[in-house]
Amino acid sequence: MSVTSISEAAEQFGAVLDRENRDEELGQLSPHERLSCPVHRRWVHQCVSSPLHVIPVTGHRWCRRCECAHLIAIDEIDGTVSMWCPCCGEVPTTLASRQITRACLQSLAAWRSHRDGRADRAR
Ligand SMILES: [Zn+2]
Ligand SMILES: [Zn+2]
Repeated sequence: MSVTSISEAAEQFGAVLDRENRDEELGQLSPHERLSCPVHRRWVHQCVSSPLHVIPVTGHRWCRRCECAHLIAIDEIDGTVSMWCPCCGEVPTTLASRQITRACLQSLAAWRSHRDGRADRAR
């Protein structure tokens, strides 16, 4: 394994997916901290709004009080993530919600550097 390829800013999505699959299997990565989604095979910020990312048991994208799925909006241009409950309007501050927000922000950043890296090469 070469150190140079790891330090390259634009890590290919497939490489991230493989690495995260391995780390998760080894118990070194929580499935909620992944940047790549193994179900949709996309960056997590690109598919987190899917109903498959609502997990009532763990409280991920789920308002327990209303028993209702949180809505999530990702702004790829501003690089922001916002989540709220459509029933009570509350912006969740739970650990699960912070985990989702953090993973999406990191996935956005990785996706951006990946995209910018490609643009550089095409120039
Ligand atoms: Zn997904
Ligand atoms: Zn609610």
